[in-house]
Amino acid sequence: MPDSRALRHDWTRQEVAALFALPFSDLLFQAQTQHRAFFNPNQVQVSTLCSIKTGACPEDCAYCPQSARYDTGLEREKLMAVEQVLAEAQAAKHQGATRFCMGAAWRSPKDKDLQYVTQMVAGVKALGMETCMTLGMLDTQQAQQLAAAGLDYYNHNLDTSPEFYGDIITTRTYQDRLNTLANVREAGMKVCCGGIVGMGEAENDRVGLLLTLANLPEHPESVPINLLVKVEGTPLANAADLDPFDFIRTIAVARILMPRSHVRLSAGRENMNDQTQALAFLAGANSIFYGEKLLTTANPEANKDRQLFARLGIEPEAFEVPMEPVKPVVEQYLPTPKTSGLFYNAAN
Ligand code: SF4
Repeated sequence: MPDSRALRHDWTRQEVAALFALPFSDLLFQAQTQHRAFFNPNQVQVSTLCSIKTGACPEDCAYCPQSARYDTGLEREKLMAVEQVLAEAQAAKHQGATRFCMGAAWRSPKDKDLQYVTQMVAGVKALGMETCMTLGMLDTQQAQQLAAAGLDYYNHNLDTSPEFYGDIITTRTYQDRLNTLANVREAGMKVCCGGIVGMGEAENDRVGLLLTLANLPEHPESVPINLLVKVEGTPLANAADLDPFDFIRTIAVARILMPRSHVRLSAGRENMNDQTQALAFLAGANSIFYGEKLLTTANPEANKDRQLFARLGIEPEAFEVPMEPVKPVVEQYLPTPKTSGLFYNAAN
């Protein structure tokens, strides 16, 4: 059993494969032991995700309804207005979220977009929440601009193993993704990086994904493990179901390899029953997305999540920040009335 205090960045493929091969109970026991060495096992961090720009993405990620290449019936939306994003953040905070994640379907942000997304970051921070964004690839300058605006986390997933990657995305390389992660780190932001399982990959690819994540120079602070949500019109609409125990194994191995990271039970949660979610928490997942939408796919209603937390004796992890009076601070970041067609209220 690995030393529960040491963070390692030199895992071998054989070691990771051996963890996946453990009897299920032994694996869960190791993962839960590791989890308790670093975290309160009965606390789960809660984030809310808001799609600030939906659809029409030029990339070809085979799982994604937001790619312009697939006809999924998804309604395209332009970049949301800053005030609308702040209103969503405030609502999320009232639901108990401590982190507000904003996602835009871009290959990478343009200069004209960055001036608005940096206002969103500053406004959400002023509400006393942690901020996270996912905007596609970032160069060094873009990463520095976001860090200067106060962005806490940047999400950029590796999606799968280097070997299987070409079956899923052809419009950007694995190395492009690693470069963005390095730029985010260099700018001083925290990294949210994980992948998706259930895309038809072999277990060896789940090994390869977690091996790559665990051997990064620093472990991502947040590791989302997504279960594919099959969306009609995407190339993976008819992918074979993943055995739920293999999903739980992936969570458990992530917990053992990256013991200080928050492992997030992410997309696909709405298709899991309460028992599977409870097993995921037992395997070391300690972060979820709360709320009614997870970018463009359904997410269990916040209310239902609260009920599950109560049944399992789980409480949301607190994030302590000095609270300022909210309204005047938010108003400071509200833009002057719109003068261009760039924004519209996505809620209308
Ligand atoms: S996953 Fe992101 S980059 Fe890929 S198609 Fe969807 S929105 Fe675009």
